[in-house]
This record gives sequence, structure tokens and C-alpha cells, in this order.
Amino acid sequence: MVGDFERLAQEFVNPEAVLHYRVCGGQDARGRPRLHCNVTADVEMLCQRCLKPVNVTVKTDRLLYLAASEAEADRLETALADEEIDVLVAGQTLDLAGVVEDEILLNLPLVPMHDDCNMASAVDV
Ligand SMILES: [Zn+2]
Repeated sequence: MVGDFERLAQEFVNPEAVLHYRVCGGQDARGRPRLHCNVTADVEMLCQRCLKPVNVTVKTDRLLYLAASEAEADRLETALADEEIDVLVAGQTLDLAGVVEDEILLNLPLVPMHDDCNMASAVDV
């Protein structure tokens, strides 16, 4: 639940919203460790126009490479040369909840809004 994620709980109207996430560890062809991060969340945010809740669906599907240090992360980023792939600096422990949180926060709309606020207020949720 969103309520379990401290940073997310501040963003959403409904802390009981359910997040679905699956993070698979693996390696690429060269044996470099990476995570396949798959997150889906249906949440409610405040519409920035009428200030009523608006449903927002967040979907992410991304590859994250893992690096042991900043220096290694820089090298990896240069080697991969792919804007779509992120390199994560992770030590012995990896904060998975933090990774999932970042994924969602990065994919939230900056200014959540209804397509049509008049429609939304007519239904009056
Ligand atoms: Zn609105």
C-alpha cells in the first residue's frame, strides 16, 4: 500500500491505494547485474485546476543497472550510452522500497488534472 511508503504517502489522496510491483534481478549478456523494475499503481492526486481527486495510473517498466560506486556508475553509463537505462549506485544492501518509490515519483504527472473538470464535478466524487 502507498501508506507503507513514506514519501509516496505525502503525494497521494488515497494512502490505501495498492501498488503492484515486481523487481527481477538478473544479468545482461556481459554478466553485469541489473534489475528489471515493473511498477503499476492506481492512485488519486489532487487536480491542480479544481482541487478534487483525480485518478492517475502510473506504469513503469525499466531496466536498472547496478554499480558498486559512483565511479563505476559513470563508467557504466558511458558504456551503455542509453538514456532509457538508469544506473543505480548500490552497496551491499539495496533499498528496494526506495527504488520502487523513485520509479513512481519519477513517473507522476507534474501537474495532475482532469481531462475535463466540469465533468468531474458533475459526478461529484
Ligand atoms: Zn479537475
